[in-house]
Amino acid sequence: MTTSGDIPASSEGFVPSVLTGPWLEGLNEAQTDAVTSLNGPLLVLSGAGTGKTRVLTSRLAQLVASRAAAPWNILAVTFTNKAAREMKERVFQLVGPMAEQVMLGTFHALAARMLRRHAELVGLKSDFTILDTDDQNRLLKQLMEAEQIDLKRWPPRVLAAQISSWKDRGLRPEKLSVADAGDICNGRGLELYSQYQARLVRLNAVDFGDLLLHMLYIFQTHPDVLTSYQTRLTHIMVDEYQDTNVAQYLWLRLLASANKNLCCVGDDDQSIYGWRGAEVGNILRFETDYPGAKTVRLEENYRSTGHILAAASSLIAKNENRLGKTLYTSTGDGNKLLVSGYWDGQDEARNVASKIEGHLKEGFDLNQIAVLVRAGFQTREFEERFLAIGLPYRVVGTRFYERAEIRDAMAYLRLINQPADDLAFERIINTPKRGLGPATLQVIHQLARGRDMPLLAAAGALADSDELKPQARRTLSAFCAQMARWYQQKDSLPPAEFAQMVLDESGYTEMWQKDKSPDSPGRLENLKELISAIEDFDTLGGFLEHISLVMDNETTPQEGEVTLMTLHAAKGLEFDMVFLPGWEDGIFPSQRTLDESGGAGLEEERRLAYVGLTRARRQVCISFAANRRVHGLWQSSIPSRFVGELPARHIDEDMAQGLSFGQVEPVLVGTLAERAGQPGYGPGWKRLASRQNNLSSAPERDRDGWLPQSGKHDFKLGERVFHQKFGMGSVEAMEADKLEIQFDKAGLKKVVASFVTRGDEID
Ligand code: ATP
Ligand code: MG
Repeated sequence: MTTSGDIPASSEGFVPSVLTGPWLEGLNEAQTDAVTSLNGPLLVLSGAGTGKTRVLTSRLAQLVASRAAAPWNILAVTFTNKAAREMKERVFQLVGPMAEQVMLGTFHALAARMLRRHAELVGLKSDFTILDTDDQNRLLKQLMEAEQIDLKRWPPRVLAAQISSWKDRGLRPEKLSVADAGDICNGRGLELYSQYQARLVRLNAVDFGDLLLHMLYIFQTHPDVLTSYQTRLTHIMVDEYQDTNVAQYLWLRLLASANKNLCCVGDDDQSIYGWRGAEVGNILRFETDYPGAKTVRLEENYRSTGHILAAASSLIAKNENRLGKTLYTSTGDGNKLLVSGYWDGQDEARNVASKIEGHLKEGFDLNQIAVLVRAGFQTREFEERFLAIGLPYRVVGTRFYERAEIRDAMAYLRLINQPADDLAFERIINTPKRGLGPATLQVIHQLARGRDMPLLAAAGALADSDELKPQARRTLSAFCAQMARWYQQKDSLPPAEFAQMVLDESGYTEMWQKDKSPDSPGRLENLKELISAIEDFDTLGGFLEHISLVMDNETTPQEGEVTLMTLHAAKGLEFDMVFLPGWEDGIFPSQRTLDESGGAGLEEERRLAYVGLTRARRQVCISFAANRRVHGLWQSSIPSRFVGELPARHIDEDMAQGLSFGQVEPVLVGTLAERAGQPGYGPGWKRLASRQNNLSSAPERDRDGWLPQSGKHDFKLGERVFHQKFGMGSVEAMEADKLEIQFDKAGLKKVVASFVTRGDEID
């Protein structure tokens, strides 16, 4: 039996056979050519907004309608929800609910679905947990502490980044040598990587990079599994191919190697994930990798008006390392790009907000407006302003799920869904405060280690013993009982209702209601937002899976809301009006990228600018500020070199503050506190500063390292034993893992067997 699914491998017996339909309407000649070339390797390499994604969605419909492939024969790697939705809808119109059988999603989502079927081949269970960066860093920290690595010199996130980059390149620990690993963690990087992988397996967990790495390994070592997927998935399509990393590239190559029906679309000018291991070379090598590949180029841009397209094209032409393309539009010149200079970031946010309000009054749809920033921290200033004036907005991306309160709430849900999720247990056992301090946690850890059991199970065992003080026992016992009850109820209530109940019954909601800090109302709002996000799901498990794989660019706003997101997350999307604030050297292009990657880094930043500009259909508003507070420090800044690279004929300058390019007044550099006393920076700034500090995640808790497990007990009745706390005693009774012991001094106690040693083993 094949392991790839319950679905027949061939498309026989599958009904429709239509050669034309509405999905072909309005396509230009080159697009039609791509959409109707259904077999053999096909590359669509062309500029922004030329309809590459549209070609993919139409081609999917064409494959199904013409019977070249059944829905279950198709694997499509998509990056935007919009594209995924369009693909499903098209296929649904053709074949009804069978549309669900298309394997559709991001690389990670697809690999996760496959890995759940074959988890045992890499030592996991199919219900493995997908860790996020926070969990990952915490785990690495434990390992590094145990190895006495100086965490100041080697912060865990540095090792985490190194490990992800190995994973992006398809390198498991056994593929690396100590020399490859370099001096990271004093030359112990490889050893720590191996330990980390082993620990993940013990926790029945994977990190993001593992999803692809494990599947790649399975394909490489289990030809039967690979063959079953090759038989089933006869046609593969990939959007944004320029951003594939080595692991994704190899994974695709293995899957496509039998049928060679691989259609990739992309744009070398939009390769923006080099820093995360993407290799633009993959797209440039396509014709060599797949001899006889057909290449289609699209030149008409259907998205942006003339000035926007021309400005974007001349900006990207400054890059040396590119294929070069010509694009044209038939929609007319439209508006010039508006470039504005402001005094500082707050001023910029105020002006952007009031521009948006102005457009709102003109009847502009807020959903059609986006503010795209270079770095996540830049959204905050806009959030503050939008909140202050009541302008509806949404911050898109994973950041929402990185907030402490959301992570706490998720940890409750994870632990209920998967009682062996130790990282979730550690996060919430004393949140809200239950008086279960480090001493109690230590005992729980000790038992869990000794008996190789999950922390929650260890807590349950201890609640029913005299190992802990009565108060801690009562609390722990109530906690475990509550967990058990929730576990029973989890499938009988709609997930959103269930999640609300858990937050209320656990005291978590109340904890924030009682909290008097300025950001607690915001946190309560976020929790509400979480509940409404869960409403879209039928099961709790389904929601949790979605979250671990959440697409960076979720864009289905509930009602009119301005979208705030990073440029990276905006890839593939489009909006009528796009604001591009913070175009200052050091911010954009980012100083860090310039320092780390020099000229190549600058070119990647320029591609990012190109992506930003080409998201806009009708209007682009670029801005910069003369003074900027970055991570609490004020700095004066000069406009981005990219501003200077935009041809004057395509832009309108709007120097409301009397500033213009290159004429920026020098400003004091100082901390926010120093700044707060100056004119225009009243006490509100202090509040803002404290609020920002509170936005970071909850304080780290102390964690135990793990030790090798010990064997099971074989005590006998009447045997003399020793217990750390209660001293010597004799075994009176035994039940499963517990012993009742008459202690010489402490009297009769029920204790956990693994906490007891034989009396004669004590010197
Ligand atoms: P990006 O490089 O940003 O990912 P893309 O090449 O994938 O862009 P699409 O998003 O597919 O481009 O198309 C851009 C816009 O142009 C979309 O709104 C799409 O519906 C529209 N479009 C594409 N082809 C045509 C066409 N032949 N006629 C009219 N509109 C089109
Ligand atoms: Mg696209």
